[in-house]
Amino acid sequence: MAVSAIRIMCPNLRCRAVLAVPAEARGRMVRCRSCGTSIKVPAKQEIKAAVEPDPAAADPPTDA
Ligand SMILES: [Zn+2]
Repeated sequence: MAVSAIRIMCPNLRCRAVLAVPAEARGRMVRCRSCGTSIKVPAKQEIKAAVEPDPAAADPPTDA
């Protein structure tokens, strides 16, 4: 298997540093090198799900 890295953005709004973590860190906690915030590395499936638009949100309310 090729070694791949995951890029995650620090959730700290005052930091927002982009961290590159190894794929093996998925599901674990990493610490931001800039601000020290603990960030959970999402699994690959979770990233894909997060990018998918919510069909329920796209549907206009039909409550007339
Ligand atoms: Zn940070």
